[in-house]
This record gives sequence, C-alpha cells and structure tokens, in this order.
Amino acid sequence: MNHQDLPGLYVGGRYRDGAASERYEVLDPATGEVISSRTEASVDDVDDAVATAKAAYAQWSTTSPGERSTVLTRWAAELTEMSDDLASTETRQTGKPIKLSTEFDVPGSIDNVSFFAGAARNLEGKASGEYSPDHTSSIRREPVGVIGSISPWNYPLQMAAWKILPAVAAGNTIVLKPAEITPLTSLLFAEAATRAGLPDGVVNVITGRGATTGASLVSHRDVSMVSFTGSTPVGRQIAAAAAGKRLHLELGGKAPFVVFDDADLEAAINGAVAGALINSGQDCTAATRAYVQRPLFDDFVAGVASLMDTVRLGDPSDPGTDMGPLVSRRQQQHVAGFVDRARDTGAKIVRGGAVPGGDLASGFYYEPTLVVGADQSSEIVQREIFGPVLVVLPFENDADGIALANDTDFGLAASAWTRDLYRAQTASRDIAAGCVWINDHIPIISEMPHGGYKASGYGKDMSTYSLDEYTNVKHVMSDITGTAR
Ligand code: NAD
Repeated sequence: MNHQDLPGLYVGGRYRDGAASERYEVLDPATGEVISSRTEASVDDVDDAVATAKAAYAQWSTTSPGERSTVLTRWAAELTEMSDDLASTETRQTGKPIKLSTEFDVPGSIDNVSFFAGAARNLEGKASGEYSPDHTSSIRREPVGVIGSISPWNYPLQMAAWKILPAVAAGNTIVLKPAEITPLTSLLFAEAATRAGLPDGVVNVITGRGATTGASLVSHRDVSMVSFTGSTPVGRQIAAAAAGKRLHLELGGKAPFVVFDDADLEAAINGAVAGALINSGQDCTAATRAYVQRPLFDDFVAGVASLMDTVRLGDPSDPGTDMGPLVSRRQQQHVAGFVDRARDTGAKIVRGGAVPGGDLASGFYYEPTLVVGADQSSEIVQREIFGPVLVVLPFENDADGIALANDTDFGLAASAWTRDLYRAQTASRDIAAGCVWINDHIPIISEMPHGGYKASGYGKDMSTYSLDEYTNVKHVMSDITGTAR
C-alpha cells in the first residue's frame, strides 16, 4: 500500500478508516499538493481505541520488564529495516530536508526505542527499609493505565517515540493522536511494533483534528493520563479538559542564545545559524533570541548574515538542501506576520524577511531571516514564532544578559557561549530553563531529560525521568512483628 493511502486508524494491531464524516488533508509542503485525504476518527472510534487499549492493559501491565524489553529491542530492529521509507515519508509530509530526516529524526526515534528497551529493566523503587521499628517499607512503581497522547507536527516520528516508549516500557498502553497534517509516520511506527510482536492494542494511533478527535481522547473517562506536546495555548485547553487526570505537558519555547564577550565568535555564529534554522525554525528549542555582549555584537550580526547567505533553501527531497519549506501555508503566514509587524514597528530586517518567489512560490517557504533593533518587550522577542527567524539584541554586563534571557514566559531551553568556566556555571544555574547548553545549541540524547520550566510545561520526555511520569509510586508498609492489632 502507498503510505499516502494508509487508513487513518491503527487500532488493535490493524488499519481501518475513521468513521467520522469530516475529512482532513495532508499536503506536501514543498508543492502545496494534496498527498492524502481521509476521514477522521469519530467519537465512537475514540471509544473503541480506548477500550482496545484498556483490554490490552490487563495483560501488558503484568508482563515482566524483561519481556517488554525483548519486544522493544525487536521493534528497534524493525524500524531500522524501514529507515529509508520512514525518512522519505517524514520529509514528504513535513517538508523537512531529507538530510535532517535521515540523520536526526529516524535514528533519534530508533535510539529512543533502544534506550527504553534497556530502561524498561530499570524500574526500581527509590527507598526501602525500616523507618519504624515495627514495619518494613517498600516502593512499587506501577503503570498508570491507558495513556491518551497528543503530538505536534514538527517532529512527528520523534514525538511518537517520545510519547509511546516510556509509556509502554513502564507497562501502560496508549492511544496516540498525531497532528492531523502529519499523521503518516506515526501510523508506520505503530505498525512496526506489531511486526515486532508487541501485543495488539498496546499501541494505537487515531487521526483527526484536535478540536474533535483530540478533544474526545483527552476527556475520555477511561484515559488515566494525558501526555501532550504542542503549543502553550492548546496545552492550557487540554489541562482544563483533562482535569483530574495525570498530566504531562511539553509546550512552547523561545530559547535564548547568550553570547558573552569571551566566546569563540565563529563557533557562536555557526551555532546560532544552525540552531535558528533547524527544521526551518519549527523546533521548540530553536535559537530564537540571541543576546550578544556589546563588544561582539556587530561582528556577530555580520557573521550570521553572511552565513545565512550560504543556506541552500529548496526541495526537501534533495540531499543537498539545508532548509525546506514551513509545514503549512498557515505557518508561513504566521511567520511572515511576525516579521512584517516587527519591520512596521522599526526593527531592521538584516536578511530574509520574505516569501521566496520563482520555483519555490507554490510551496510554503520562508527565507532565513535575521532581525536587529527589536524591543525586548516586542512580540517578535516575546512570542513563539516557530519559523526561521533569529532576533539579535545587545547586552552590557553578565547580569543583564541573563536577566534578558529569562525575560519571557517560556523556559524550555537556552544556551550560553563563553570560554570562562565560572560564567558558564553561573549561566547554567541562573537561566530558568529545562536545558542549558554550554557552547552548543540543539543536541539531545535519549539518556537525558527534555522538558520545560514556566509556560513551557512540566514533566520530562526521554531518559529514565520520563519513566517516572508514566508510573505511579506506591508505598507498601508491612508490620513485621505480628503485634499490630
Ligand atoms: P498545537 O498545539 O496546535 O497542536 C498540537 C496537537 O494538539 C495536534 O495534534 C492538534 O491536533 C492537537 N489539538 C489541538 N487542539 C486540541 C484540543 N482542543 N484538544 C486536544 N488536542 C488538540 O501545536 P502544533 O502547532 O502542532 O506544534 C507546534 C507547537 O508544539 C509549538 O508550540 C512547539 O513549541 C510545541 N512543541 C513543544 C515541544 C516540547 O518538547 N516542549 C516539542 C515539539 C513541539
């Protein structure tokens, strides 16, 4: 079957169509062509998927960590076999360069599966012992139940892995609803699990729009926990709809990039361009606000501008392409709106700031864009743009640089650029974000947690910290004297 024609639901180990009358479309962002159109999951489909996951939970939650680990190891092998197919499908539906899909999204997702194959065997309680002379205590880490998960469109495959793996490694079952504009690789990911021997119903994928299919899933009474990655406004709606359930929220970001006056300037320029333009800037940790200490400011801006001139914008299926289109016309207009309003209010657009014409006009492209002269309080500095736009502002002393970095509602990730150990340590302590990189920006690893402070949400993805999210902690206290009456 051509992946574009995949039915929209993968429930109980098989594909089928959604029963709702509403349709949604998947477009190729590089051309604007419709590549797939399907019916979304109806309320009854959501019910059925949750009931299927609930039935599977009875058995899966009693498997041993070793049994789960064996299946997850086979799942990673299945995904490795289909790497090329996963990469090309991811590129087709998102518009991201094939280089990125091949070198980052696909291996990153597979590594996540492999990591949790190992971590599944490491679900231990923290403390046991006798804190009372008459009792002994132990800690049980138990799965939570059926997880309802909602994921965004920027890294569909990696987000499916981040949501599904810690959940099933800990013995939960899951119903995932990927973003309606990028559902294809999540379906293929679940299908590979079945081939690896994961019991039917442990991982289910339903597709449809957020306000319909997504809303039915998060408020479903048999969903014990909601795990969401997406924008902060939708996260707030979901938190209200899922009140009373366990919640895991990974929300928006507005990462600062702080360059101190002793930094390696060339490394900082390379890091800023790579960190701002990765995935066309549609990355919750993308470098969006560079604060550069005054002595380096002009050279930094000039260096970023000339490096942006070398970025190859174009067909994402071409291995030579550095940056593809944005994911949708809507996202393109959203990004253009921010830049146009910044220009209108006096900021200077040093590079880019336009929708390219010619061969690229039918796709959802936007030029790599460099902005200076914006106010710290302006929306281009404060709000999430999710596009290839870097704003650069100067700062005078270390305390100002860190204060400016902390001056947004978000707190997902940040970087500090310096050769001075004390400055690096101070910045990593004082910047309020779930991740602070020193002399780098963007890398992530399966072993380490990813998650936000402030309006960027709470809870951790990846790492053994995420197993904590998907388990309940139970204290078992036993009388050891036989004297309790
Ligand atoms: P979005 O919030 O618009 O949508 C995310 C998902 O929520 C989609 O699947 C959508 O269909 C669904 N949804 C929308 N309304 C819903 C509702 N009322 N009930 C249930 N589901 C609903 O986000 P997006 O535009 O797809 O993705 C971009 C956002 O994701 C950015 O804000 C980005 O920062 C964030 N993001 C965060 C992380 C992280 O780890 N913190 C990672 C990737 C993306």
